[in-house]
Amino acid sequence: MTDTLNRGLAPTGEIARRRYLDILHQFTLRQSRFSTLDDIVWNIAKTAIAELGFVDCVVYLVSDDGATLRQVAAHGPKNPVDREIFHEITIPVGEGIVGHVAKTGEVQCVGDARRDPRYIKDDDFRLSELAVPITHAGRIIGVLDSEHPEANFFSDEDIQLFTTIASLASNRIETALAMERLESTVERLEKARLQLELQAEELRESRLAAEAASEAKTSFLANMSHEIRTPMTAIVGFAGLLADGKGDSEEQFKWRSQLTVNADYLQDLIGNILDMSSVENGMVEVNTEEVALQSLVGDSVEILRARANTKGLTLTCQFVGEVPDRLATDRVKFREIIVNLVSNAIKYTEAGSITVTVSAEQLPEHSSLKVSVRDTGIGIDTTQLDKLFVPFNRVHDTTRLAGIEGTGLGLALTYQFIKALGGDISVISTLGEGSEFVLILPCALPEGVSWSDAAAPNPFLQSGPSPVLKETDVVNSEQPLEGLHILCCEDSEPIALLLEVLLTGAGAQFTRCVNGAKGVQRFESLLGSSSVPDLVLMDMQMPVMNGYQATGHLKRMQPDVPVIALTAFALKEDVDRCRSAGCDHYLTKPIQAGTFAQQVRSLYDEFQEASGRSAY
Ligand code: ADP
Repeated sequence: MTDTLNRGLAPTGEIARRRYLDILHQFTLRQSRFSTLDDIVWNIAKTAIAELGFVDCVVYLVSDDGATLRQVAAHGPKNPVDREIFHEITIPVGEGIVGHVAKTGEVQCVGDARRDPRYIKDDDFRLSELAVPITHAGRIIGVLDSEHPEANFFSDEDIQLFTTIASLASNRIETALAMERLESTVERLEKARLQLELQAEELRESRLAAEAASEAKTSFLANMSHEIRTPMTAIVGFAGLLADGKGDSEEQFKWRSQLTVNADYLQDLIGNILDMSSVENGMVEVNTEEVALQSLVGDSVEILRARANTKGLTLTCQFVGEVPDRLATDRVKFREIIVNLVSNAIKYTEAGSITVTVSAEQLPEHSSLKVSVRDTGIGIDTTQLDKLFVPFNRVHDTTRLAGIEGTGLGLALTYQFIKALGGDISVISTLGEGSEFVLILPCALPEGVSWSDAAAPNPFLQSGPSPVLKETDVVNSEQPLEGLHILCCEDSEPIALLLEVLLTGAGAQFTRCVNGAKGVQRFESLLGSSSVPDLVLMDMQMPVMNGYQATGHLKRMQPDVPVIALTAFALKEDVDRCRSAGCDHYLTKPIQAGTFAQQVRSLYDEFQEASGRSAY
């Protein structure tokens, strides 16, 4: 049916009934084709009601909690385009004419809304309103509502028709609502299932991580136990033989050198473990400063020349092409990376050469520095290359490496340092022929320095060995501490004895106190005399008064006397704690007997220079 019922020329009697029947027939047919709630309610509003010639209609549905009515479809001024509702409102059940129908289930036909206080003006004010309930199984699920500007507009037939349409639609609306509820339940269940799966995956991952951590801890302890016991056995064994006066002088010389080798190894191991623990605690701190590249690389390589010479290896360091000399990087980490790579190259090469080549690539975006360390050593099986940087991993058969000490930590640390500096490392190797480790680092120039400026060394930067161990000092002075009075606070007898031997052997006057309190007393008693200590060596862990407190007292009494902390704690926070206690410098135990006196001298001179005094 295409023509609508014209209310102005309303057909009457048989004709009207036929049209009504036809509309209902068409409506029922169309409804059977729709399954979604949206289609069903819009079909009521836009087709059935429109065809009846009503100017306005709104379909309301009761909310799930039964408290309100929401507008879900409309015909007339409330529906300007498509399936949109203009100025959509919700009406509480019980309020207004529509709310009354939803609450009571009674049909409401109002002839003059001016006289009905329940009338709620939605868009325009209209005099007539007809509202019928949409009921399913005795439950009110919605309201069909129509308004008209003329008073007493709706006839009994209209009421019948509205009620019929509402009743015909109710089943389908309820089914569609149930489907919607079902779909949203399925959706909620699916979300919950995915959430559960995610949680299960997270649990599995954290269980695996916990297992891996526990395995790593076990293997760490096993490794450590082995790594420490091996050199300790040698130290205890040879020290026992020497103490018992066993062996001829040649054997005793060998045993003494074994003591040194194993003690050095233990010291390296402990240093590496401390570094590794900082790395694993995420405490790799990068301290960028301006460095003189040539001397930094040169120094790092020179430290190892004696080792290479002992093995008869040629050690070469070359700069290829234009390489900036002024660079911004972390001096300590950079040095450690080069030293680790070169010392490995020496360690794993029996004959031939080690070549360190430095070059740079200048790109507009990010220039890079390339350092290659190439050796003619034992090489690495290509299947083992990916294990090189795993902590405690020695990729060669350790029985074959007999005599080559190692902890398997060096490359793991090197790798972490390279990453911290924003670089990368790759390895090319052939078993039996040699290896090349290639390090790429970002080539950051110091602030305000251009590429061409950077090529020339910075005249204000120290180039040459580090200030702690000046080469000239080492060779020049047999008695580097001559004329210095050193007060030493140390509770350990053997360490105090060692310090006395080393310091007096280097010409110092040596006074020892067994704890911080005694040290403070002795210092105070010497103040004003001709033998005021020139320098204090302070152990930090002591009974009665520790080194931190004692340093505080000493510095308050006499800030001009340098205090050097001497401690077995070597983590960064320990250094910071010493500094904030007032210590001017810091040395870690175990001390290096061969260079200790020289180190103390250099630190003393540094303090004097910094305070503007003459060193001698
Ligand atoms: P290590 O303390 O054992 O030297 P590293 O972490 O420095 O530990 O190196 C891990 C392993 O990588 C070494 O044990 C060795 O097997 C191998 N390796 C490292 N550098 C070289 C090299 N230049 N040539 C051959 N093998 C090397």
